Amino acid sequence: MKRIVIVGAGQAGASLAARLRAEGHEGAITMIGEEPVPPYQRPPLSKQYLMGEMALERLFLRPESFYAENGIDLHLSETAVAIDRADRTVIAGGHTHPYDTLALCTGAVPRRLPGAIGGELAGVHVVRDLRDVDTMAPAIRAGGRALVVGGGYIGLEAAAVCAKAGMEVTLVEAAPRILGRVACSETADYFRALHRARGVDLREGTGLERLVGEDRVTGAALSDGTELALDMVIVGIGITPATALAEAAGLAIENGIRTDAEGRSSDPAIWAAGDCASFPWRGGRLRLESVQNAIDMAETVARNMLGAGVAYDPTPWFWSDQYDVKLQIAGLGQGHDRVVVRPGTTTGSVSHWYFADDTLLAVDAMNAPRDYMVGKRLLEAGRSPDRAALADPGTDLKALLAA
Ligand code: FAD
Repeated sequence: MKRIVIVGAGQAGASLAARLRAEGHEGAITMIGEEPVPPYQRPPLSKQYLMGEMALERLFLRPESFYAENGIDLHLSETAVAIDRADRTVIAGGHTHPYDTLALCTGAVPRRLPGAIGGELAGVHVVRDLRDVDTMAPAIRAGGRALVVGGGYIGLEAAAVCAKAGMEVTLVEAAPRILGRVACSETADYFRALHRARGVDLREGTGLERLVGEDRVTGAALSDGTELALDMVIVGIGITPATALAEAAGLAIENGIRTDAEGRSSDPAIWAAGDCASFPWRGGRLRLESVQNAIDMAETVARNMLGAGVAYDPTPWFWSDQYDVKLQIAGLGQGHDRVVVRPGTTTGSVSHWYFADDTLLAVDAMNAPRDYMVGKRLLEAGRSPDRAALADPGTDLKALLAA
């Protein structure tokens, strides 16, 4: 019976292990995770959990008993430090774990500010794991002063939490606009206005020169000449795929662990899924950073490890919560040349539809769940609605699905 080892006890690792059992795999499953807790969901870390509105137990993807009950040998607080591909073993926490098949679900590492500009001072935080958030949470209190560096989804969500808690919040984005990498300018305009209306001092085209403080951060100098007094800094400047282990083992890396369409790395005994993996997609190569991708790719890999032979071909989706706005995204907008704006029926409700010529690529729906649902279904079916009909709020969206 095949012995399967999974490195990384996060969203992808947990989904992979559960799917292996659901598909009838009866051999040994060992899951190695460097964090001290069983697999948990990360999205609330920059939302409800950071706000203090969600209990720790609700973060866990499964009760801890699930792993023992399903014969999943969970090794926590163990870092896999080496893979011996010839011997088919993984070294972790002083143990040698033999495998027939290995899955790498190592996730990603947050980018940090360089030490030379104060990035290592106390009070400077990233938002990747539970420990990061438990460390910063006490500083989030009314009257405190926070600087958020980076205007991507993590930075904007953290800014929303701080502003809601009654902090004085400055957000700097070095690029000309927020969400430059991931969303159209219409969506950026929407969230800029939302944050400013909540009192966030949001500055685009503005970089951080340096942080100041003895041991703990007390201030910052911005590229526009402003000097800020601060109590804390939250850094949301992106992540890099966690490929060090794979790279040291000689696996092919291309913006993440390079896999084939089934999720197999350059070594046929080793597979990868989630934030750490890049896979072939529509003539190019894609790496996604989302819960949907971690679950769906891991489940596909689990089935393929058992011989299913199916290609992973996702319709990506994502969400973000900021204040009372729920953003839902279906598809990928990269390469769009026009955006159709569809006004909603209630205040703050609107959707932005990305097209390349007449082809629908993606939709961003702000407090517009119906638009999201219809957009996702159209994308899954490979269909593109008429742009003029879409822009007309009088058009029944369901009719577009039926058309
Ligand atoms: P992870 O969940 O990061 O798990 C990887 C695990 O592997 C980690 O526990 C890590 O410690 C462990 N590991 C790494 N190397 C080793 C090693 N050598 N040995 C042992 N263990 C190792 N996605 C959405 O779709 N919507 C959202 O709203 C959203 N919000 C987010 C908010 C935050 C704050 C963060 C951090 C992420 C958010 N995401 C969101 C992204 C989503 O959580 C990730 O895409 C998803 O967790 C990826 O799953 P993964 O299993 O690939 O990686």
